[in-house]
Amino acid sequence: MSTIRFRDSSGYVRTGTLDGETIQYGSSEIQRAEASILAPAQPSKIVCVGLNYADHAAEQNKSIPDRPLLFLKPPNAVAHPHSEVTLPSGKDRIDYEAELAVVIDKQAKEVPAEDALSYVRGFTCLDDLSNRDDQNREQNWIRGKAFDNAAPMGPVLAPPTAVPEDASISLSVNGETRQHSSRDQFIFSIPELIEEITTYLTLEPGDVISTGTPSGVGPVSDGDTISISIDGIGTLTHSVQIPD
Ligand code: MN
Repeated sequence: MSTIRFRDSSGYVRTGTLDGETIQYGSSEIQRAEASILAPAQPSKIVCVGLNYADHAAEQNKSIPDRPLLFLKPPNAVAHPHSEVTLPSGKDRIDYEAELAVVIDKQAKEVPAEDALSYVRGFTCLDDLSNRDDQNREQNWIRGKAFDNAAPMGPVLAPPTAVPEDASISLSVNGETRQHSSRDQFIFSIPELIEEITTYLTLEPGDVISTGTPSGVGPVSDGDTISISIDGIGTLTHSVQIPD
C-alpha cells in the first residue's frame, strides 16, 4: 500500500494510505484530488547518483564508472508535487532528469548490501533539475544541482515490492515523451548504492537517494509541465517558472 503526505483543509500535515483515489488516515478519508499533496519526505540531504543507466552513459559517450558518481542536494531543493517551481533566471539550459528515488526509514551507517532493503521506507519519483550552465563551470555543482526547487519529488511512497526490477521510467514535457527506459538499465543496484553511500556518510530517516537518470535528458522552458511516471509508483507532475 502506498503512503502519501498531504495538507488537509484545516492546514494540518497528515500521512495516509492511498486506496485508489481515496486517502485514508485514522478513521477519516479524503479524496486525493481534494488534498494538497506534499513531498513524501523531509530529507536532511538528498544523495544523488550520476551516470547510473547504461543507456544514458552511452548517450553521453561516457564509459561505465567503476563506482557511483555521487553529489548532494540540500533540503531547500525539495519541491512538492503539482507545484509550479521557480528556477534560476538567465540560464541557457536547465534540464529535467527523471529518477527513481529511495527514501530511508532508519538511521543507516555502514550497511552491507544484503541488509540494505530493510533500511528503505519506500520509492518515489524525483526530477533532478540540473542547471548545465553552472554545472559545467564548477567542481561541486552547488549552482548546478543544489539550487532552490531543484528536486521536485513524490507524489507517493510505494513499497519496494510494488516496483518491479524492470519497472519502466518515463518523462514527458507538455505531454510529449522525452525519456523512456527501464530500471533494468541500472549500473549499480539500490542495495549496492546504499552500501557505498553509507560507507562514507550516515543516512537519517527521511533522507533520499536519487538513483540517476536514463537517456533522453533535455531542457525545460518557462511554463512547461513535466510528468515523471514509474511503474508501481505513479506519476509526479510539476511545472516550471523561469523569471525574466
Ligand atoms: Mn541525475
